[in-house]
Amino acid sequence: MILKGFNELKQFLERPKNIVIVGHRNPDGDAMGSTLALKFYLEKKGHKAQVVVPNQYPEFLHWLPGSETTYRFDWQNTQVQKAIKKSDIIFLLDFNALHRVGQDMQNTLEDYKNDFAMIDHHQEPDEVTYMYSDTSISSTCQMVYHFIEMNNDLDLIDKNIATCLYTGIMTDTGSFRFRSTTSTTHRIIADLIDKGAENDRIHGNVYDSNSYNRLLLLGQALSNLHMLPQFKTAYITLTNEEMKKFDFQKGDTEGVVNYALSLKGIIFAAIFIEDAEQDIIKISFRSKGTFSVNTFARNYFDGGGHTNAAGGKSLLTMQETINKFTSLLPEHQQELIKSYEE
Ligand code: 5GP
Ligand code: MN
Repeated sequence: MILKGFNELKQFLERPKNIVIVGHRNPDGDAMGSTLALKFYLEKKGHKAQVVVPNQYPEFLHWLPGSETTYRFDWQNTQVQKAIKKSDIIFLLDFNALHRVGQDMQNTLEDYKNDFAMIDHHQEPDEVTYMYSDTSISSTCQMVYHFIEMNNDLDLIDKNIATCLYTGIMTDTGSFRFRSTTSTTHRIIADLIDKGAENDRIHGNVYDSNSYNRLLLLGQALSNLHMLPQFKTAYITLTNEEMKKFDFQKGDTEGVVNYALSLKGIIFAAIFIEDAEQDIIKISFRSKGTFSVNTFARNYFDGGGHTNAAGGKSLLTMQETINKFTSLLPEHQQELIKSYEE
């Protein structure tokens, strides 16, 4: 755990400030939940706070309280530049390095003259002035809860804050089943329910809001599932053509990689998705046990993340990417076999 400049930050926030809160590109439940929860909290403390995300976030998060007030860097650039210009500090939530916001927004952030404060749970964070980094914690939302706790402000958590925090903890822990889920996580969840988070509605809003096409796309993904039992590995591919066929919308492929990981005996899973917009193959990696997909993604696919969940990209074609991936497996065979005792 790294806690840097916390007392100075506390002092700095003793007077009302203009604050911008930034989440990562392709925001997920944890990015949206943590930025919005922090915004509500800082507003309660007398500050002005504006959430900015680089681009679109999935439809299944649009119901989150406060989400209608967020700015998108790619759509509302003028408003974002204005908000950043008049801000006294920028909070960076749920990401560890400025490049995670995408090139255009990264340039804007690199020109920023005031300080950054980072709250994040990814490995190897960039150096910024104020930092709360802990890779052992389930989610940035859980860290925002601890941040509020460190400020002795748990009584300020209202229904909106509780709802946002519950959402991010739920999505980042795969509904409280990943190893990062601790008894502390459950105690926090219990407290958030006491403070107004309607757990059944939140689960319903996020997980039971599929479009017909999304389920058909899942069917397509599952029919593209490949298994390499000798490496305890399985992977899924989705081409641009397949995604177009089922009217792909942002967020439609979220969680699909977990189906590959759910196969009995499989401890390493990947999904390769053609991203026509960026002309890359976007990859998600998942593992069980000690095999670090963070290291794997960093070493071979220009990415990173956590030990058991990471992402990366490839500039090769789909077939070349798959060839590269499968040709890397033999040298990791022992690690893969030893990673996880069933
Ligand atoms: P997902 O597979 O759900 O997109 O991401 C899993 C985890 O890996 C997340 O914590 C995410 O922040 C991280 N991640 C995903 N893609 C990248 C990437 O391209 N670079 C880095 N450094 N991390 C990534
Ligand atoms: Mn997260």
